[in-house]
Amino acid sequence: MENTKIFSNVKERLDTLSQLPKVKENRSINELMQEHGISRRDFMKWAAGMTAMLSLPSAFTPLMAQAAELVDRLPVIWLHMAECTGCSESLLRTDAPTIDSLIFDYISLEYHETVMAASGWQAEHNLEEAIKKYKGRYILMVEGGIPAGSSEFYLTVGPHGKKGAEHARDAAASAAAIFAIGTCSSFGGVQAAHPNPTNAKPLSKITDKPVINVPGCPPSEKNIIGNVLHYIFFGTLPSLDVYNRPKWAYGIRIHDLCERRGHFDAGEFVQQFGDEGAKKGYCLYKVGCKGPYTFNNCSRERFNQHTSWPIQAGHGCIGCSEPDFWDTMGPFEEPLAERRYNTLYSIGADGTADKVGVALLTVTAVGIAAHAAIMAFKKDKA
Ligand code: SF4
Ligand code: SF4
Repeated sequence: MENTKIFSNVKERLDTLSQLPKVKENRSINELMQEHGISRRDFMKWAAGMTAMLSLPSAFTPLMAQAAELVDRLPVIWLHMAECTGCSESLLRTDAPTIDSLIFDYISLEYHETVMAASGWQAEHNLEEAIKKYKGRYILMVEGGIPAGSSEFYLTVGPHGKKGAEHARDAAASAAAIFAIGTCSSFGGVQAAHPNPTNAKPLSKITDKPVINVPGCPPSEKNIIGNVLHYIFFGTLPSLDVYNRPKWAYGIRIHDLCERRGHFDAGEFVQQFGDEGAKKGYCLYKVGCKGPYTFNNCSRERFNQHTSWPIQAGHGCIGCSEPDFWDTMGPFEEPLAERRYNTLYSIGADGTADKVGVALLTVTAVGIAAHAAIMAFKKDKA
């Protein structure tokens, strides 16, 4: 569909949404921004960035701002399963709230165990009421892996001792859209790591409704809010990769936009943490960076208002947005290549980097080898 047609469809959808009553009487998003010293100009800059992140033309920027103003029209139910709450905490515990985290505050959260005032019977009642009242309209976000099958009893929630899997299934049944937030909910995460004593599963194995995976340990707030805004814009599933991750966020490899990539291509590696190479900002591949095997937008979007990200801070990517990363990407500070595959001269990719040099260690070679390594390992596991 051409852009003008998409533009008018989105505009029409936003205008219809704006006619809906607010789920809760709140301050407006503009008041909230002002309260936190964020100017309209900053807000529009943010909207332009979000538009680009969702791979839309810049003409959509005013619509993005309008969509952010309408997030309070969508009720959200957020369930916690077996997890550390890190995904919620990463959004909530910021000392200087970002526009993304303010928008999360502005969303009409109908149920979220970490932030709601109610507890016990009252909390359970609120959840049941929200599911009934907003049937077919609410967004469901689930954090955490879910003990499944005969192990469902490993996770019970609330005063009725309802199993986590039952909670997730019931809430999924009437949801308008379902997001698995974080790697645990998307792929099982650390709970599902070998030997997976609670038979933890991803949300997609608990419900047969479509689930959009937003992995990361934790996922960036931009990827969480971007998904909400994408849903407000289009009301449909985004284009997804084979692991049901939105391509706009997980369609690129960490390695491809990494600022240390020039050093990788030049064969300049940190050999151990703290050495001269580390001081010069060389590539972290030999100290375990899994960026060549990992699809996520951290190298482009970064964290903490775009200030930094793990590789900039000096540690390699550990592959946290990939399925089974606890089992397949470790040890986190050793290169996968040495263990998993040999290259042309059967001396491992690191040997190749040193001895053969730049010409042979091309993007393609590493890409193919990376995929081969991961696939071979997964096959071994299956
Ligand atoms: S291996 Fe890691 S540090 Fe090196 S260029 Fe790739 S992503 Fe960046
Ligand atoms: S850099 Fe890698 S390990 Fe770190 S958050 Fe991004 S995908 Fe996860």
